[in-house]
Amino acid sequence: MSQPAESVTSEFPRLHHYINGAKVAGSSDRFGDIFNPSEGIKASEVPLASQAEVEAAIAVAADAFPAWAATSVLQRSRIMARYVQLLYKHQHELATLVSTEHGKVIEDAMGSVLRGIEVAEFACGAPHAQKGDFSDNVANGIDIYSMRKPLGVVAGITPFNFPAMIPLWMAGMALITGNTVVLKPSEKDPSCPLRLAELFVEAGGPPGVFNVVNGDKEAVDTLLNDDRVKAISFVGSTPIAKYVYATATANGKRCQAMGGAKNHMLIMPDADLEDVANALMGAAYGSAGERCMAISVGVCVGDDVADRLIDILKPRVEGLRIGASLDTNLEMGPLVTREHRAKVMNYIQMAEDEGSRLVVDGRDFVCDGHEQGYFLGGSLIDNVKPEMQSYQDEIFGPVLQIMRVGSFEEGTALATDHPYGNGTSIFTKNGAAARNFADKVEVGMVGINVPIPVPLAFHSFGGWKASAFGDHNQYGMEGLRFYTKVKTVTSRWVDSGLEAEFMMPVLK
Ligand code: NAD
Repeated sequence: MSQPAESVTSEFPRLHHYINGAKVAGSSDRFGDIFNPSEGIKASEVPLASQAEVEAAIAVAADAFPAWAATSVLQRSRIMARYVQLLYKHQHELATLVSTEHGKVIEDAMGSVLRGIEVAEFACGAPHAQKGDFSDNVANGIDIYSMRKPLGVVAGITPFNFPAMIPLWMAGMALITGNTVVLKPSEKDPSCPLRLAELFVEAGGPPGVFNVVNGDKEAVDTLLNDDRVKAISFVGSTPIAKYVYATATANGKRCQAMGGAKNHMLIMPDADLEDVANALMGAAYGSAGERCMAISVGVCVGDDVADRLIDILKPRVEGLRIGASLDTNLEMGPLVTREHRAKVMNYIQMAEDEGSRLVVDGRDFVCDGHEQGYFLGGSLIDNVKPEMQSYQDEIFGPVLQIMRVGSFEEGTALATDHPYGNGTSIFTKNGAAARNFADKVEVGMVGINVPIPVPLAFHSFGGWKASAFGDHNQYGMEGLRFYTKVKTVTSRWVDSGLEAEFMMPVLK
């Protein structure tokens, strides 16, 4: 594990792991390819850790745990505050790493880094948030108090689409509460997560407290099966989320596992359709639709609403400003890999084969000057029906499906009945309809005239149904609860002696 990162040579630059405050070259001899999706070329390689390498990282985190857990909450908070300052200072550098490997445009990447920093900012308030309860004199001389203790070594396993924000959702809350972290980021874009861990050490975080191992299933399985790992926080696709949740909990670990999504926007007849179109353009096509809170289905109440909305959307989808991710003033970049683009293209074909109408087909788009890049134009698909496979599945690309329903109830039922339940929104001027929708719909995060209702850091993030497994949401007080266990102390301090009690103790 002590091999210096620079000792490994290859035709391509090779990334490393980050363990115990140092870059560590991989020793497994297995590597994953990292691409520049704007150019369509392989850019670097990431080592895929072996079981032994992951176990070594867990050992480092386990060794670092006692001292970090014993560090005063104020001291941890000060380190977190310095970390926040460094994250702001390096926001553009981090966003550039995200944009280069993921393909989302740089302004969008800047925003995604900021949403992660906000969780670290919230974490600075842990001295207040982590306070326990105290009941004074519950009986003669007896008090009861509770405290929130860290769990130990915890693991984060993250998806490709938010390589700054989601690691910070996890690390921010796990570290401030006194846990040590082994993060296993997506092997598609690991450079930003590696830098996040380095910056934590630069901020004064002790080496070994925040570690990053790169890898694939072998690394994940090692984290799931090692007894020293007490909790797993996972974000990714639903099949893997289910597997991670089932394996982690069978091994006695705490687990939260967020999965995929299919987010509906219900468009009522009284909605301002210019506002709706603006909201949909960003929510469906921003980040090339590779957001778990992207709106991928527009549900129009009435044919008139659908026809008018499509008239507004069609030229705008055709005119999307698409280009290389580091160029500015763009609306959308490429998709993350060639394989992912092919998967999205297959879904567009499936939608057509299933009988829906391609109003705009983005498959022929070519980006001038970046002909090899993994680009797709925006697609807009009408007449989508609930039984279609292309509607049941998550597509995760720049594709907006339009459905037509006859009533508010029918539209609400679509979102409720869909297997996924991450986010949804309603656009209307009718407060009673909006309130009814928010109350009744079986989805975890709801927007009212807000297309992407991602809660801020002091609330929490989590979907329902096939979009999340486990009891606690990400970040906010839910995150704090996930990363701590409650200890309750009943204490008696009186001058008089104790008498033997043979009956069940009942406090008087
Ligand atoms: P993914 O499930 O392919 O990968 C997620 C993580 O799991 C990665 O670290 C990957 O290395 C690991 N992994 C992949 N296959 C595995 C296997 N067979 N066994 C063990 N580990 C494995 O997801 P992705 O493609 O990186 O990300 C996109 C998905 O994430 C979409 O479905 C999206 O909706 C979802 N997502 C959900 C949320 C949310 O909060 N609900 C947020 C962001 C993304």
